[in-house]
Amino acid sequence: MAIPEPQFDELYRELIIDHYRKPRNRSELADRDYRLEGLNPTCGDEIQLDLRFDGDVIADVAFGGAGCSISQASASMMTAFLRGKTAAEAAEASQWFEAMLVKGDPPNPALGDIEALQGVTRFPVRVKCAMLGWKVLNDGLERHEQATTESEK
Ligand code: ZN
Repeated sequence: MAIPEPQFDELYRELIIDHYRKPRNRSELADRDYRLEGLNPTCGDEIQLDLRFDGDVIADVAFGGAGCSISQASASMMTAFLRGKTAAEAAEASQWFEAMLVKGDPPNPALGDIEALQGVTRFPVRVKCAMLGWKVLNDGLERHEQATTESEK
């Protein structure tokens, strides 16, 4: 699929390329609570996400997959952000990220480096690429919430 790579401001471009070439947390968790998978057929991106919770805190996270630089860099940035966050904090960050990319809201400062992906809004076809990892995370948070609610019954 020949979708041209978006052009970003230099600083952000370097950050994105850095995460693409040297992805953080790109592995699998042998000891995991959930494994989620997601696909962005528009671009052919795939993300696999492993999550381990300690109570309500994301104790460990790893991702795998294949696809364009935006999808993989976005997932890498997301995993770097997630470790040590509570499920509620992760869900909140996911909403900020979606608001930034889909509604065009200014980035929430708490997202840190992730704001580099704001430039993706100028390339609507790539928004789904950037969103993929977070979509997969949302599935994981939902499963965690269901499991937590079940165990409280
Ligand atoms: Zn893509």
